Amino acid sequence: MRVLLLGGTGEARALARLLDGDDHLHVTSSLAGRVAHPVLPVGDVRVGGFGGADGLAAYLRAEGIDVVVDATHPFAARISANAATACAATGVPMLGLRRPGFTHHDGDRWVRVPTLADAARVLPDLGRRALLTTGRQEVGAFAQVEGVWFLVRAIDPPDVLPPDAELLLARGPFTLDDEVALMRERGIDVVVTKDSGGAMTSAKLDAARTLGLPVVVVDRPPYPDVPTVATPADAAAWLRTRT
Ligand code: NAP
Repeated sequence: MRVLLLGGTGEARALARLLDGDDHLHVTSSLAGRVAHPVLPVGDVRVGGFGGADGLAAYLRAEGIDVVVDATHPFAARISANAATACAATGVPMLGLRRPGFTHHDGDRWVRVPTLADAARVLPDLGRRALLTTGRQEVGAFAQVEGVWFLVRAIDPPDVLPPDAELLLARGPFTLDDEVALMRERGIDVVVTKDSGGAMTSAKLDAARTLGLPVVVVDRPPYPDVPTVATPADAAAWLRTRT
């Protein structure tokens, strides 16, 4: 069975590891090519866009793909929508591997907003020194925010920065102690995050709770109506029932 594994996440790499060496499955992991030095999954890897839903459908046909697993990031909405369209057009089954969002704990001061633009709008009412962890591509949403100093943390440099900002290049996982120290050192009084979920980056939420800081949490975009599982192990089991 030929599997196209849409990746770019730790979960996708974990699934590639779980399936590695299975004689019944041939897995090709796909990366968008956004990050300059990506952590590569084991096994076959292709890099770069397909050319929209039509290009992806053509790829599925040309490569004889039997099943698509969408293990992309919960905020990578376009590729997920394209995958659903291409799978519907070609009759190839699709499984979504979606890690759960962040868990709210007692003592959390979360302000949930539907979009990044809403996060930028509410931010000046919540603090003056923001830790911005939304990812390189989303920093532009904050480019017009006045009266807030930003510590922008990203893996690669964003194209634009807010008017008053410092860039911190770093890749998770981060520890609670490091996050608390960073927030204290820089005088952070508000944190901005997408509801990405996952253990790699959740320490900032624990740190914000420890320090009593508000966190602007951007909701996930809608997901196509396809079967989904929450863990790489469940995705591997789902695939093995189909071989
Ligand atoms: P996106 O907005 O949903 O997709 C934009 C375009 O990038 C897609 O239309 C597709 O190009 C291409 N693409 C995206 N993921 C791809 C993949 N796995 N393989 C091949 N092409 C892909 O995606 P994004 O938010 O830019 O994310 C890009 C990648 O970074 C994804 O692999 C995602 O898992 C990873 N990532 C994203 C975030 C985030 O916050 N968005 C965070 C961590 C990791 P074509 O239309 O030409 O096919």
